[in-house]
This record gives sequence, C-alpha cells and structure tokens, in this order.
Amino acid sequence: MDRDLASVLSTNIPPNSGEIVALKTRMEDLNTTISEMRSRLRELETEFEGYRGATSALRRLPSEILGEILLSLPLSAQELVNFGLVSKSWRETTLLTHRLWSRIKIGKPRQLSEQSYNSIVTWFGRSGAVPRRLEILEEDSQRGRCASDDCHMLNPIVVKLLTRGPSLDELVLLCKGRHCLRRLVNAISSSEAGSSGRPWDGIRSLQLDFDNDSSWTTRSLNAVQQETAFQSLPRHIGSLSLNFPAMEEAFDRPPSAAFISLCVPSELLEGLTYLEITCDWEGGHVLSVKRYKYDPL
Ligand SMILES: [Zn+2]
Repeated sequence: MDRDLASVLSTNIPPNSGEIVALKTRMEDLNTTISEMRSRLRELETEFEGYRGATSALRRLPSEILGEILLSLPLSAQELVNFGLVSKSWRETTLLTHRLWSRIKIGKPRQLSEQSYNSIVTWFGRSGAVPRRLEILEEDSQRGRCASDDCHMLNPIVVKLLTRGPSLDELVLLCKGRHCLRRLVNAISSSEAGSSGRPWDGIRSLQLDFDNDSSWTTRSLNAVQQETAFQSLPRHIGSLSLNFPAMEEAFDRPPSAAFISLCVPSELLEGLTYLEITCDWEGGHVLSVKRYKYDPL
C-alpha cells in the first residue's frame, strides 16, 4: 500500500478523486484474493475430511460389531438400504447380518402388489436361517371395519405370502374385527400351497390383535354363537397371543359377550409353551381357554 492511501485510511480526511480510484482498485484486488482464498479453503477442507474419513475408527470396525450396532438401531427399511449404499464394505456388512433382514412390517396391506411380493421375497432371502417375523397390520386410521370385498386380509399378495411365500416363524395379524381373520383363513384354505408347503402351516408364534369395533355383537342375548375362525389356526404353534377389544367397544350390548364361544381347539392349546390372552369380556372366555391348557385333570 502506498503512503498516500495509508494516510487516507488512517485519518478522516476525505479522499480526492485520484485516491478514490486507487482505493477502488485496491478493493477489487482484495475481493479477488478473498474469493480465491475462500475457494482454496473449501478445497483444503474437503481434502481434510477425506483424510479424516480414511483414518476414522468407524472404518476399522469389524463388520460383526458394525452389524450389532445396526441391529440396535431403529432403522426403517429404507434407512437400512441407504446404509448399504455408503460403501461396498458397509453393504457387505448389512448382507452378512442376516437378522437385519428377518422382520417385515406391512402397514398398508391393501397396497401390496406383485412387485411388493418380489421385494419381500428378496428381503427375507437375505435373512439366511434366522427365523422370520411378518407383521400384517392396518395403519390407515381413516378406514373403518373391513367389508367382504375390501378386506385388508384379502389382498391376493397377503394370501400368497402365507401360502406360497418364504417360510415364517412368527406372524402378527391386526384384524379389523373377527371377520378379517375368518376371511383370511378361508382364503388360505382354498389356496394352493407352494412346492415347499404353506408358510402358514409352519408358523411357530402367532399374535392376533383385534381392534376395537362392534363386529363381535351376537344376534341374540341368549343364543351361543360359535366363533369358527380359531379352528383353522396353524396347529404347530408354540406361542399364541390373543388380544381382544374392550367389551364395551366390541359389543353393542356388552352382556352378550358371554354368549360367544371362542372355540380355540384344545389340541392347539395343548401344544403351546406360551399363551397370552387380553380379554375383559363377560363370561368364562379366558378360563375356557386356559382350562384346556392348564387343567391337570
Ligand atoms: Zn380386513
């Protein structure tokens, strides 16, 4: 900086026209230098991040430990897939961690397509010999009770998964009323099995959740109504969980709850090692189920 400009900058004396030109020229030079240095700074920071990533402890984690970390995280399906896109070794880690691929939750079964079926088969195919768990729910809160032509259990892909799909160990079904379960077991009974048998028949753990609606109401307050859907459950299950809706919600006339016979087959109950029932209905429903299971006589 020449001496004239230095005196202008260090005092309050107004610059003359020549000095203004010189000041602006210097400002443009400084601006150009600042831009160049900022650009270089970004280059250096990018390079630095590259070196830091290369020396990261995460990169040197054994894939088994990385796999355990992934298992402890509440990853969505898309997040798991995205994780595998980070690098080849991370993708191998996900593929080697079979448990990551052993659970599938279907929240909107009505939207299942043939493409969904293929994706589910591929997903479960990565689970190796790990027992598989399938949850078929209905997360569309806008929908009321299912109709016979619009039941979430009657999507052909749901039936196909349970008759011709990959083998299953655990199954969770959210039924919008008892009719959903009855429709499903009827559809399974009338569908052809795959070459390796029906996954439905091999289920070891079954959880049936019935949501709150009044579909359990009996026609009469004094006629026993037999519920037949439970008679067609898989016969080799060791764990059964039945969660019924609150009596006040399930019945237009709550006392009629006592006149429904659940008819869970005794031979099914005798094979159980775990039984859970949530039921506040009037009558001996819980006792009638447990009698088969625990009666020492
Ligand atoms: Zn349904």
